[in-house]
Amino acid sequence: MLIHGLQKMTLLDYPQHIACTVFFGGCDFRCPYCHNFELVDGTMAPIMDDEEFFAFLNKRQGLLDGVAITGGEPLLNKNLPDFIRRIRDLGFAVKLDTNGNHPKALKALLDENLIDYVAMDVKNSLPRYGETIGIKDFDTSGIEESIRIIMGSDISYEFRTTVVKELHDESSFEVIGKMISGAKRYYLQAFVERDTVPDKNLSSPDPKDMEKYLETVKKYVPDAELRGM
Ligand code: SF4
Repeated sequence: MLIHGLQKMTLLDYPQHIACTVFFGGCDFRCPYCHNFELVDGTMAPIMDDEEFFAFLNKRQGLLDGVAITGGEPLLNKNLPDFIRRIRDLGFAVKLDTNGNHPKALKALLDENLIDYVAMDVKNSLPRYGETIGIKDFDTSGIEESIRIIMGSDISYEFRTTVVKELHDESSFEVIGKMISGAKRYYLQAFVERDTVPDKNLSSPDPKDMEKYLETVKKYVPDAELRGM
């Protein structure tokens, strides 16, 4: 398996864990605000294979207690279950980030108890999903299915939305709130403007709007929070 990035230690990517973060290349979405687009469009070359990664991880036993797996979209990788089994055999907890469009692959990992925490992006209300992920006429059934699977499981999880001024408004959060009503954790994080994203005309939301959106979703997810503000 080819690995496209490795952060050797993070206290932020995996709640309550000292973790490393592994980045896989490739994604089936084309979010116009993506901060990792060089991973998505294949311009970033792999930095190591899985044997090099496990050599690194072996040396981190006792220093780290978790591995956060992100991308790109990690669930596109057919060898992911084997990769995670090897991580778990070394005694590390595993957090998975996903765009939510691969419910079958996600369920297989959950059924085998291979992951300890899942963070799923809920990009927008369903009518604005395609526009938000850069794919016209996107079929949102996988997103709805992933939400059902996660909320019906025992796993620790979070949903999260990156809020972009031009893509989200009050109604986005009224609809998302209903869609994930009763969720354990939901975070709203403001898009940070960068000149490396695909659409450079997008901008950060007003902090006052973020507060307003939070109040809206709290009707459905009382413990929802703003992150990174
Ligand atoms: S799902 Fe994530 S990695 Fe894929 S394009 Fe969107 S922001 Fe980028």
